[in-house]
This record gives sequence, structure tokens and C-alpha cells, in this order.
Amino acid sequence: MIIVLMGAPGAGKGTQADLLSERAGYRKISTGDALRKHVKLGTKVGKLAGEIMARGELVPDNVLLDVLKEEIGPKSNDVIILDGYPRNLAQAETLMKVVEADHPVRGCVHLDVSRSNLIARLSGRRVCSGCGSSFHVSGNPPKKDGLCDKCGGSLYQRPDDDAKSISVRLDVYDSSTKAVLDYYQKRGNYCKVNGEGVTDEIFKELTDAISTCLN
Ligand code: ADP
Ligand code: ZN
Repeated sequence: MIIVLMGAPGAGKGTQADLLSERAGYRKISTGDALRKHVKLGTKVGKLAGEIMARGELVPDNVLLDVLKEEIGPKSNDVIILDGYPRNLAQAETLMKVVEADHPVRGCVHLDVSRSNLIARLSGRRVCSGCGSSFHVSGNPPKKDGLCDKCGGSLYQRPDDDAKSISVRLDVYDSSTKAVLDYYQKRGNYCKVNGEGVTDEIFKELTDAISTCLN
């Protein structure tokens, strides 16, 4: 079964998906993480996607479908939390046509965060090169400057977390991705969670939403 986690860049999808995986045993799939892995390894997909991602634009749908299939794998009973897909209506349709047979799509939970908050979160974000944990220069600084609390790895700023790419990503979200929220709303399996506040409280609201409104 698939639960789609939606929200603008910086809404906290990655953080909450990690918690769902640690605490609820869900399998997390992040298309952004998968693409960054391809870029790091210098694969064909990575070579094609790297510059597009750095600009903050969407990587072509056909590439994403291959990446998604590779990540999802064969039919299973796993509860999959999907972070970063679908990002436009065509991808939402593809998910129904291509993946639904093996992995029924239960619905979508939307982490809602205001634009000003998103910009503040993204521009101060630092990510661990070892384990992928996220920190924030002022909101959630690491104990030791530049180093991850969890694994000691060095922290870096994602190339698409600069002011210009942040603005492109938020515009792409408004022009392409928001329509996906209506898509799930019309199907009757959509719920919205306030994504602002304390991480643990958001997590509680999120799990409540998954057990009540998606059931
Ligand atoms: P964020 O949600 O913070 O923008 P992600 O890690 O989810 O970050 O995605 C990073 C980038 O990877 C996107 O800006 C886009 O270029 C690419 N990407 C990820 N998922 C998709 C997708 N479903 N369709 C197209 N491009 C994608
Ligand atoms: Zn780390």
C-alpha cells in the first residue's frame, strides 16, 4: 500500500517520512533522494538530472517513472510512504495506471506550511552527507558546528537551496504540484495536516490523520 506524502519544498516531508519509517515501520521512498544518489554515482539518469535539479525544475516524467519503479520493486505488502512523487497531474495518473495494481494507493496526506516559513526553512537548511539528516542554522543547529549529531558526518548546503532555485521550486510547486492535491481531494482520499510547529506534534497529527482520514 502506498501513502503519498505531499507538501511544498521545505514542508518537512523528508523529516516526517524518516520518523514514519523509524517509528511505524513504513518503507520510505524519496524520489529526490533517489535522484541525488544517481547524481552522486554519475549514472545516466544522474547526468541528465543533476543540472535540472540544481535549477529547481522538474526532471522529465519518463525518467521519474524508471526511478520510481526501481525504488518500489516487486509486489509486496509493505506500507510505502512516498515522498516527492507525484509532482504533477501526469505523474498522479501514472501512479494509478502503472503502480496501483501491485501497490494500492491509499491516499494523500498534505503537510501545509506558509510560503514565508518555507523560504526560511530552505535557506537555512544543512544536510548530513553521511546519513541525510536535516538541520537548520538557527532553528535546529547541530551541537558541533558543521557536523551531524547522529553520525558525525559533515553538513552541506544542497545546491538547490540557494535563493534563486528556492524561488523556482516554490513556483513549480504552485504551478504544477498543487493540482495533485485537488486530484486526491476529488477522489476522497486526501487529508491536510498543519506542518508548522514542533516536529513531534506534527508527527502525531500526521499519524492520526493516516489512521482516521485515510481509513
Ligand atoms: P524538495 O521537495 O525540497 O524540492 P526533493 O528532494 O523532493 O526536494 O526533490 C529535489 C529535486 O529532485 C526536485 O526539485 C526535482 O528537480 C527533482 N525531483 C524529485 N522528485 C521529482 C518528481 N516526482 N518529478 C520531477 N522531478 C523530481
Ligand atoms: Zn548524519
